[in-house]
Amino acid sequence: MAMKIKRNPTRSVRVGAIQIGGDAPIVVQSMAATKTQDIAATSRQVRLLEQAGADIVRIAVDSKKDVEALAEIRRGTDLPLSVDLQENYRLASLVAPHVDKLRYNPGHLHHHEKDKPIPEKVAFIARTAQEHDCAIRVGVNCGSVDPRMLERYEDQQQAIVASAVEHCEILDGLGFERYVVSLKDSDWQKVVAVNRLFAEQRPDVPLHLGVTEAGMPPDGVIKTRLAFEQLISQGVGDTVRVSLTVPFDDKGEEITAARDILRDIEAGRFRSVPPSFGEGLNIISCPSCSRVENNRFVELAQEVKLVTEYAQQYDITIAVMGCRVNGPGETDDADLGLWCGPAAVNLKRGEETIGYFGYDEVLSRLKDELDAIIATRAD
Ligand code: SF4
Repeated sequence: MAMKIKRNPTRSVRVGAIQIGGDAPIVVQSMAATKTQDIAATSRQVRLLEQAGADIVRIAVDSKKDVEALAEIRRGTDLPLSVDLQENYRLASLVAPHVDKLRYNPGHLHHHEKDKPIPEKVAFIARTAQEHDCAIRVGVNCGSVDPRMLERYEDQQQAIVASAVEHCEILDGLGFERYVVSLKDSDWQKVVAVNRLFAEQRPDVPLHLGVTEAGMPPDGVIKTRLAFEQLISQGVGDTVRVSLTVPFDDKGEEITAARDILRDIEAGRFRSVPPSFGEGLNIISCPSCSRVENNRFVELAQEVKLVTEYAQQYDITIAVMGCRVNGPGETDDADLGLWCGPAAVNLKRGEETIGYFGYDEVLSRLKDELDAIIATRAD
């Protein structure tokens, strides 16, 4: 039986011709995984996502050459586009003329111009967004929380929520209300917890939901579904992204999975999972993007899944990440981590780097490390 979901009374935020929040239907987004400077491939990826039903597409931009490519990609599509300002928030003034939304991560603002107060940096981004008719996403990631907040709060979830709330207050103080917030993690239960906490404090702010590094289908879709079910059925969430590790040509799966989940929630069809879901071997992997350092990443993630199948019953987390931007940090919390370089893969045990191994040799090294962990568990 269809259920009427009472959504939180969020503000309406315009992103190009799309409205997020207010009384608008939940907006579905994705991200191009191709190299941004490969204009033909990225334009094709944007078309593919549009054909699959994407409302907004994000593109990674890290350099002036990426910005030039972005301008060209912009000319080829009317779809609202968004970009991530990673550590370089000043890139905002170069990309804003070509996009409809700027995403910044409060946990990355301290990297450059360390003496400049954070509110000044936010003011620069807001002013730039205003001048170029862009919305903003304050994108908090549990793997890169603002260190000031981690010092202030013992509880990591409180630090995450406080960081998001602080940035809402800075933007509100500047008179800039055209923003949404996201609070993401690879653990779906943490995603539910932090989004609930945030929504209690700021029910007026539209939320972008997602489980980051959810991994490969079907598990990646199930984890995301569980988070969305818990939040959206309670009225929390205005736009969503399903992050899946799939080949570039299959990226439309992120959109179809999101639409299926939303349709099921709307119809009152909820997925039940066995109580043991989430126990045992947990492989998390990023959805890849323009920054991926070697196109063998997706294949590597799939191979990791295959060669570690024998360890299903052990509570071990393996993280597979595509690049140096998020790879080193996002693998810290995993028992074993792999992050891709151009010619070699960095293998880690917790925060410790074991070494750099060629794409052909890393899997056997991974198995050795996995066996060593299993042996300690058997003691
Ligand atoms: S880890 Fe790197 S390649 Fe993967 S999605 Fe994040 S930025 Fe992109």
